[in-house]
Amino acid sequence: MRRCAGARSVREPAAHLRDLVPYDPKYIPAEVMVSANENPDDVPESLRTDIMRAIRRVALNRYPDPLANGLRDLIAEANGLDRDQVLIGNGGDELLFDTALAWGGPGRVFLNMPPTFSVYENNALLTGTSVVEVPRRANFRVDEEAVVARLSRGDVDFTIVTSPNNPTGDAVSESFVRRVLEASDALVVVDEAYFEFSRKTVRPLLENYENLVILRTFSKAFSLAGVRVGYLLGSERVLSEYKKVRQPYSVDAISQVVASTVYENRSKFVFGIERIVSERERMFERLGQMDGIEAFPSESNFILLRMEGASDAWRELLARGVLVRDFSRTRYLEGCLRVSVGTPQENDRFLQTLADIAASRR
Ligand code: PMP
Repeated sequence: MRRCAGARSVREPAAHLRDLVPYDPKYIPAEVMVSANENPDDVPESLRTDIMRAIRRVALNRYPDPLANGLRDLIAEANGLDRDQVLIGNGGDELLFDTALAWGGPGRVFLNMPPTFSVYENNALLTGTSVVEVPRRANFRVDEEAVVARLSRGDVDFTIVTSPNNPTGDAVSESFVRRVLEASDALVVVDEAYFEFSRKTVRPLLENYENLVILRTFSKAFSLAGVRVGYLLGSERVLSEYKKVRQPYSVDAISQVVASTVYENRSKFVFGIERIVSERERMFERLGQMDGIEAFPSESNFILLRMEGASDAWRELLARGVLVRDFSRTRYLEGCLRVSVGTPQENDRFLQTLADIAASRR
């Protein structure tokens, strides 16, 4: 765009936004896209036909159901909850932002456990929320004692426990989440975006803890990253606070029927999930055999690895058609790359390319 010569310039944005860096998923087209923790397989073909049929019935001239009650009911029933204990959002991302809007704000405190999903910290900065950090240990596991001790001081308004964590891949135990919930009355979001791969959930704790909400998404196990649907499970009291800040029509009518059709047919994704888990184990083993590469155990659909010259390796991988995520210059993740589990062929291509790069350095 050309500059408007001579026109009036614009004033500075709010001070807390001046240094904010926009979230950048660093998407670059490549033959093998294993950088964004997506499902390598699109929804099964037979289901696409059902989805198209459902989309054809959508009234495009009408606003969507603001709360996506049809989808809420499906999710509530499957989880043994009432409709009011489920809230749908435009991807987990929107619900994370709503968390900061509803539970953060000026004078409020968010406890973060870096390195973790960078969106959490961004949302805190956007909403003027103070961030206190309890960094993970050298092996990237949560420093459980330090987290519980920090929460016990009583000044934290909300925290997010990511299980499995992105980008480190580790899941936490239910007993740790219970300790976190007991430590204070802060809202505790357990981000289970990848729980279908770890098969661990803290859902049973919802019965006893009003300060717990669980975040899930359709973007990973259910192959719907392009559709943007996520959901929260929690108490009616907490979710009614979210309703105050959410955008009324953020989940469009097409997304609602696509997600509903997929959810009704979720058994069709079991095979794909199992394949991702077994491929992850195969990749982890193979990475462990490569000289100069340290791979971190993962319960998710991606693996974090550390190596000398990681940013050069990232460039070399890309030059050979493989896009992974470069964290090599990110605080706490120096020297790290993250690879998502792709199809077996994609994984072979990644492993072979990385092995060639590692070998060429010897
Ligand atoms: N939580 C975590 C830990 C994630 O990694 C992601 C996706 N990168 C999300 C939430 C949000 O996913 P989505 O907005 O696609 O539902």
